[in-house]
Order: sequence, then structure tokens, then C-alpha cells
Amino acid sequence: MSGAAGFIGSHLCDRLIAEGHPVVGLDNLITGSRRNIAHLLGNPLFEFRECDVTQPFEISEPIDGVLHLASLASPKDYLEHPIETLESGSSATRNMLEQARRHNARFLLTSTSECYGDPEVHPQVETYWGNVNPVGVRSCYDESKRYAEALTMAYHRVHGVRTNIARIFNTYGPRMKLKDGRVVPAFVDQGLNGVPLTIFGDGTQTRSFCYVSDMVEGLYRLMFSEERYPVNLGNPLEMTILQFAEHIRRHMGNNLRIVYQPMPEDDPKRRRPDIAKAKLVLGWEPKVSLDEGLRETVAYFKRTLEPAVVEKSG
Ligand code: NAD
Ligand code: UDP
Repeated sequence: MSGAAGFIGSHLCDRLIAEGHPVVGLDNLITGSRRNIAHLLGNPLFEFRECDVTQPFEISEPIDGVLHLASLASPKDYLEHPIETLESGSSATRNMLEQARRHNARFLLTSTSECYGDPEVHPQVETYWGNVNPVGVRSCYDESKRYAEALTMAYHRVHGVRTNIARIFNTYGPRMKLKDGRVVPAFVDQGLNGVPLTIFGDGTQTRSFCYVSDMVEGLYRLMFSEERYPVNLGNPLEMTILQFAEHIRRHMGNNLRIVYQPMPEDDPKRRRPDIAKAKLVLGWEPKVSLDEGLRETVAYFKRTLEPAVVEKSG
């Protein structure tokens, strides 16, 4: 698995290992952290290799499945590293697909709702081709994932690789980076520090937030399915960013102020997954409520901050 030390990757490692699958985790730690996989390091079913999967590599032991999660994933990260982001969709996807082809293994790509760009069809259904600005600042992410999807389909059509493509919608939970700029950790960070919540634009843009355990369940089911075309995975409960800020205030303190900042370029105005296909093909739908998910996430960030607090006060 590439991206094993990342947010979703580390949870997927946990799940695979819990089901008895040995995992070789690859990660160059550009946004991931050893801390996310520290609990797995002594486990005989887990091996970690620090490597950049945009460079050619070889796995010599037999493998049944190749899971490609490595990518810059938060807007802040991919805007800072546009070329690395394009490479993680292109050369890294090619390298991972080559491993699948050589080992006659299954292949899973974690694509994204960003393939739909700023969508003109709502909610987004897999048959919608999207509205992406190919030269805008977000194109490094959107187009690299669209290329990765095309390459994945080509490996299936040309080499018969058993491929699966997940289009992941906004997912949150423990092990996200507090400072990765995505709205959930950003608001939690601001809440913990008692500083105003930063809303970009007027806050009427919408998102729907999926808790990570639901996402892992969807990915796990998808990687063993026979569905070759993309499948949306996400939570269909749509809300404006202003409404999301209200949820955060309820969890973290109603006295949190809101400050408005400029809307980033090409920020999608509406996003909500149509998950009819995932329900039909995988028998999957999210189970964890936003309240439950936020409780776990806030508790996690509080725990990760504790040593720093002790250090400061000591
Ligand atoms: P993340 O940044 O926590 O994880 C990505 C991991 O990939 C990191 O550990 C990073 O170090 C690693 N990585 C990046 N480039 C690499 C390279 N060249 N070689 C080896 N490792 C490399 O992000 P995440 O949220 O866990 O995202 C995981 C996947 O899911 C990504 O492919 C992302 O595009 C996709 N996705 C996530 C979301 C979401 O809301 N979290 C939404 C849509 C799609
Ligand atoms: N956002 C915000 N304040 C922040 C961070 C993000 O208002 O501090 C908005 C952002 O403009 C977007 C939404 O929240 O409309 C989700 O942003 P995120 O970066 O989490 O993911 P995206 O869905 O844009 O990939």
C-alpha cells in the first residue's frame, strides 16, 4: 500500500491487518507521519518501507493486492507541491499499476470527488464527467487524479488488471494533520486554541463529511468487488460551511467567533455524493453520525496536543 502512513492509509492498514492480511506499507512521509503507524511497527503482519513511489521500485515477495493512496490530498498541501501532486497521479500510479500487473494482483486507486471539479450536476453521480479547470491552481490535483483514473482503466483494458476506483468525498477523523488546512482539522485547531473560525467566502459553499471508519469499510468492500468503473464513497449529508461551523461551535464552545476570509480560486460551490451505486454494488452506506465522528476527532486532537501542553507547563 502506498500512502500507508497517511490519514486514510493508516486506518486501512489497521483494517487489513485485523482481517489477517500482511501489509507492506510504502510512504515517503511528505504529509504522512510515523506516528500514524507507530502501533503497527512491531506487528509481524506489517512492514514499513520509507520510499517515494514516483520512483521505480520492486516488491519481491508475492502480493495479492496493490492499493495506491499516495498523493498530496489537502488543498494547502497540493497547492504547495503541485509538481509532486501531478507525479503522484501519473508516475506513481504507473509504478503501482506495474506492480499489480507483474504480480497478477488486484489494484485499488483512491481517486476523489475533485474529478467532478466545480460540479454542474448535483448530487454528483459517477456518470457525470465533471467541470474541471485544467489550468487553474487546483488542476494539479484534479487532473492528476483524472489521469490516474484513465491510466487505471487502460491497465484494466490492456493488461486485464482487476482494478477498482474509489471516488472519495471529504473524509475526516483521527490521524488527520491538525495543520493540513482542511476545514475539519482547521476548525478543531481553532476551537482548541479559542481563536475565530476562518470561513472562506460567505460560507454558503457545501460539503458532506464522511467519518474515516465508514470510508475504510467502503474501501475494503470495493477492493474485493468486481466493479471496474468508479464508485463514489462519501456521506450524503450535505451542509454549508457555515452550518458546519455551527456544529463545531456546539462541540467546542459556542463563544467561538467567525471571521470571513477570501474564497480560494476554483473552490467547488456544492458537493454531495450520490451513493446509490455504492449501496447497490457494495451494500455500503455510512453509519457514523457527524456528532459521533466529531466527538472522536476532537478527543483525538486533544490527546495529540497533551504532551506539548505538559512540556510547556513543565
Ligand atoms: P494524507 O496526506 O494523510 O495521506 C497521503 C499519504 O501519501 C501521506 O502519508 C504521504 O506522505 C504519502 N505520499 C504522498 N506522495 C508520496 C510519494 N510520492 N511516495 C510515497 N508516499 C507518498 O491524505 P489522505 O487524506 O489520507 O488521502 C489518502 C488518499 O485518499 C489520497 O490519494 C487522496 O487523494 C484520497 N482522498 C482523500 C480525501 C479526504 O477527504 N481525506 C478525499 C478525496 C480523496
Ligand atoms: N474552508 C473554510 N475554512 C478553512 C478551510 C476550508 O471555509 O479554514 C472551506 C473551503 O473553502 C471549502 C471547504 O471548507 O469550501 C472544504 O475545504 P477543505 O480544504 O476541507 O476540502 P475541499 O473540499 O475543498 O477539498
